[in-house]
Amino acid sequence: MKNQRQANFLTIDEKELFQLAARLKAMPEPGFFEFETKKALQDFLASTGDDKDTAVTAESLPKQAGAATNGVRIIEGLARTAVLAELGAPDAPALILLADIDALPTPGAPGGIAHSCGHYAQAAVMASVFKALARSKVFRLSGMRLLFVGAPAEEYVELQRRMELKKAGELHFLSGKQELIRLGIFDKPCLVLKYHSMEDSAARELTVNGSLGGFMAKRAEFFGKPAHAGAHPEDGINALSAASLALQAIHAQRDSFRDEDHVKIHPILSEGGAVVNIIPAKAVIETYVRAWNQTAIADAAQKVDRSFRAGALALGAALRIFNTPGYQPFFPNPALGEILRKAALQFEAPDRIDFADRSNASDDIGDVACLVPTCQLGCSGFTGAIHSKDFEPSDPLRAYLRPAEILLRTAQLLLDNEGETARRIIKEFKPRFFKTEYLATVESMFSIQDFRIE
Ligand SMILES: [Zn+2]
Ligand SMILES: [Zn+2]
Repeated sequence: MKNQRQANFLTIDEKELFQLAARLKAMPEPGFFEFETKKALQDFLASTGDDKDTAVTAESLPKQAGAATNGVRIIEGLARTAVLAELGAPDAPALILLADIDALPTPGAPGGIAHSCGHYAQAAVMASVFKALARSKVFRLSGMRLLFVGAPAEEYVELQRRMELKKAGELHFLSGKQELIRLGIFDKPCLVLKYHSMEDSAARELTVNGSLGGFMAKRAEFFGKPAHAGAHPEDGINALSAASLALQAIHAQRDSFRDEDHVKIHPILSEGGAVVNIIPAKAVIETYVRAWNQTAIADAAQKVDRSFRAGALALGAALRIFNTPGYQPFFPNPALGEILRKAALQFEAPDRIDFADRSNASDDIGDVACLVPTCQLGCSGFTGAIHSKDFEPSDPLRAYLRPAEILLRTAQLLLDNEGETARRIIKEFKPRFFKTEYLATVESMFSIQDFRIE
């Protein structure tokens, strides 16, 4: 790897990258509340150029005009905590370096929250790549725009709190990238690079152009009737029993799913009674309904609804189901992935790279990829199970420096010859949705259904 590094025309400032990673890791914050993280990243990015043009608001961004500048523009006021830094002519096609910035509520972690999905590493890596490119001739000669986007709230959790923010007019959609799509960040011609951390494995070091499943989210509230659990249980309606029957009914659906659709349903019972001597008057199930395609998601969602209703019907409980859109399945752009592949092969042996990864996890990068060419690098260098408090970098060179160097090399290949390859990929890309269709689709997935047993 060292020889490759020396041979490279562009370099990552290793010390600065490690410091930023350590700083961000130490301040895990939940989605749409990443205020300290935002400030740390803005400080880091603002030192990229000579002058900065701050406080460009969400309203002014799409109309933002002006000549090319060598100074970085820090764009404020989007999706509560989004971090955007831009270089180059505002109307030029853009190379977008996209990173998640949120942490995850994690049992057993100090304060109950940790970077157990490694998003801090993404942010540090992409910000370092941004700086390295900003210093480079290849970027200046490309005539392209460079945009760092730190997206809030990738983890689709704490939905009730986000629904409150939505009600208060702070948000419209419930994830960071969905909000940034709505606000126009991906409206102009662009292509997107992203990276995600992975656990160490004997099978592979990297994934290139891996794809992901999609999902939607459900919350079912069962309403019974309280009663003294010892003296008069016959006067109550047990909401917990309704919910537990519903869980059994969901499990009973599993052999009706096709293997190739990779349906995953993983409910939790997040409320099941107040105190032990009162018949539970309310119980709540939350679940995702995941699959590799929207048809399978819709089919499974209908079966889950039927299961909720079966539980409520058996006990005579009332039922309210809240549906929220999750994320689109992620299909990376093959042409962009080919460039990422070329870059990755300069740093790892082919038999250590998985070029056909297909995960059942999801990410709102799937939504972005419906609209603009997008690809993702997966990079090991972490120990412990992802989404657990034990997910920690095992080796900073592999966890941080290696993805930064691969992505920098990818950017260089895209931007060489006045951005010839980047411009070609943008031109040839066929979106799966136009933005208006996309927005209408996501909007239509918010719904509430009530069932009452007469
Ligand atoms: Zn995650
Ligand atoms: Zn993640």
